[in-house]
Amino acid sequence: MTRRDFAFVASGLAAPSPPRSILVHEHVLVDFIGADQIKPGRYDPDEVFRAAKPKLDAIRKFGCVRLLEATPNFLGRDARLMKRLSDATGVDIWINTGIYGAAQHKFVPAFARTETAEQLARRWIEEVRRGVDGVKPRFIKTGVSGAPLDEVDRKLIAAAALTSRETGLTIASHTDAGAAALEEVEIVVAHKVSPAKFVWVHAHSEKDHALHEKFVRTGAWLEFDGLGPKSADWHLECFRWMSQNGFLSQALISHDAGWYRPGEPGGGNYRDYTYLYTDFLARLDPAWIPALLWDNPVRAYGK
Ligand SMILES: [Zn+2]
Repeated sequence: MTRRDFAFVASGLAAPSPPRSILVHEHVLVDFIGADQIKPGRYDPDEVFRAAKPKLDAIRKFGCVRLLEATPNFLGRDARLMKRLSDATGVDIWINTGIYGAAQHKFVPAFARTETAEQLARRWIEEVRRGVDGVKPRFIKTGVSGAPLDEVDRKLIAAAALTSRETGLTIASHTDAGAAALEEVEIVVAHKVSPAKFVWVHAHSEKDHALHEKFVRTGAWLEFDGLGPKSADWHLECFRWMSQNGFLSQALISHDAGWYRPGEPGGGNYRDYTYLYTDFLARLDPAWIPALLWDNPVRAYGK
């Protein structure tokens, strides 16, 4: 025991170190200009770095050692900047490969509309093998609109499944409705990929627990990732429901915060990643915390 520790004990003050944690779905930067107009130079990386660093320093102090940066290619994925921020903050930032189909395919580049699932998968596998600007993607990010899935969305999920089969990476797919999530997991399984390699991103958007239940029974993951003051009660209810029904081992939590926006002064309203630590943890059953903060993220996305 150091003298400082002893002083804390002697004074009756606890100096607990926060449990280490992983945030599975956050953003540094998102550029909504669209796949046909996105290009380098729409923002100053130094300015984004300066805006992001204190936010990442803050979660590092709360014990967060890894953050999965969920911004896909053609929406502002910036591997170089993420590497720089990782090195500067000690938070290991994971980037992704894949293409986001939601929002009427605004973020789907022209080539992806005509190529086959196999051709797209080859591109993504190549990114995983060779890296993107020196950084290896560690998960696959896609996104779909509602059910029934249209042809492009089905193709993107098939390409994600082929990529997962080849690389072992997990697929995280932006999906608002349970019916769409069920269709996706069906496609994944049809490509001989384990449902445990599929994460339903934004599962909290679905208000019907019957659909959560149908989905969770496939063996895939539910990510309740829009955590913040406004959503906290519903998030708590979702985790309670998962726990009461024996499904907590398939639940993930994150804020889906951040969002430096190019084109807006100072990046607009860049949200913190700290609500989980400052407010929400105290509301959770302490027995759930190791699973939600560490074990489930590692089981879902790997080490
Ligand atoms: Zn997101």
